[in-house]
Amino acid sequence: MSNTNLLNETHDPALASWVESANLENCDFPIQNLPFASFKRKGSEEDFRAGVAIGDQVLDLKALFALNVYDGDVQMALAKCCHTQLNAFMSMGKHFWSALRHALSNGLSKGAELQAEFASCLIAQADVEYALPCQIGDYTDFYTSIHHATSVGSKFRPDNPLLPNYKWVPIGYHGRSSSIEISGSNFKRPKGQTKAPTATEPSFGPCKRLDYELEVGVFIGNGNDLGNPISIDNAEDHVFGICLFNDWSARDIQGWEYQPLGPFLSKSFASTISPWIVTSEALAPYRVQWTRDEADPQPLPYLESKHNRALGSLDLNLQVLIETEAMRNSSQPAVQLSQSNFKDSYWTVAQMVAHHTVNGCNLRPGDMFGSGTQSGPNPEEAGSMLELSNAGSEPIALPNGETRTFLEDGDCVIMKGWCKKAGAARIGFGEASATVLAAD
Ligand code: MN
Repeated sequence: MSNTNLLNETHDPALASWVESANLENCDFPIQNLPFASFKRKGSEEDFRAGVAIGDQVLDLKALFALNVYDGDVQMALAKCCHTQLNAFMSMGKHFWSALRHALSNGLSKGAELQAEFASCLIAQADVEYALPCQIGDYTDFYTSIHHATSVGSKFRPDNPLLPNYKWVPIGYHGRSSSIEISGSNFKRPKGQTKAPTATEPSFGPCKRLDYELEVGVFIGNGNDLGNPISIDNAEDHVFGICLFNDWSARDIQGWEYQPLGPFLSKSFASTISPWIVTSEALAPYRVQWTRDEADPQPLPYLESKHNRALGSLDLNLQVLIETEAMRNSSQPAVQLSQSNFKDSYWTVAQMVAHHTVNGCNLRPGDMFGSGTQSGPNPEEAGSMLELSNAGSEPIALPNGETRTFLEDGDCVIMKGWCKKAGAARIGFGEASATVLAAD
């Protein structure tokens, strides 16, 4: 299968919208994107409901449903979009997701017959607030960047950086969904037990090595029954879409607690996602080949497929920026800390889904996977401060003269993502940002 088999008229780069802001260069939300969020008017008593981004506007899908301009599959899909969260729509599967995408693409295109009806359903993004797009029942964090795994492993275990299972198993741990919040939700620096390498006993207090992790969040659409694994060939049909994900991490708490069962309180105090889910269908043009180094173990059969080799990876640019309190007070713009690309991941989304369910584990609509920190092959592509500051030993210089080894109170971390290639429209993910507040 090639990309072209996955493409349809909704991906046509020549398509333009009558919503003029959607046609501006470098707009994250052109008509080829159409990501989903849960929103309401800022400060209003309205219920949250599903919306789709177009330019600087949100298309209110509950309002569109109420207009009754559709019947059949599109109206059935819109009915599910009236709920406060997207789980019911996500559970419908790709036939319905695609039917709605085609209808929305059509209604938002220049010259659309339904322009007046659609226009009555638009609300400026500046006037809305967002909620989590769905109820995230279970959250699993993977560890799919071999560059991150090797570099972090060398800091925690200098003599044994990459454990022997890494190249065989898409490593992950079951995380905690209750502390995942939407972009803009600031949080207090966590407290906990830490132990300096030279100390004989741990001490208790605010985390001193607070870090971010640049990740991608993967949302499961229709799930599987307990006992019925999802094969790698069907895996992508179960993926509703992708968002940006910051898996904040308390490195000093992590270093003391992580053996033998993995991260616990070092991760569960806060995680931040971007409000918009970019759908699997919107991402079709940016799928790329996945390769495994000849010298490395090749995947076991349940993690191997022709389609995964041909198109399993995603050419998705990821960026992390910082805005310190001092920068904010002097109106300086946020500065980039690093950039990487999800295509450098050692394992693909399809392999994560196939592996997660191979023992019969059931996934449910709205479950989320973290990809693990996406660090690229070069040191400047590191997706965490632990790597950029070499475990705190090499301070990162900021343009205003400040330095950072780990995050300080008042620091705002901003993550962005976009897909871009010749012959396709550029689509963006918006942003995931939050500010670290002082511990109590
Ligand atoms: Mn993580």
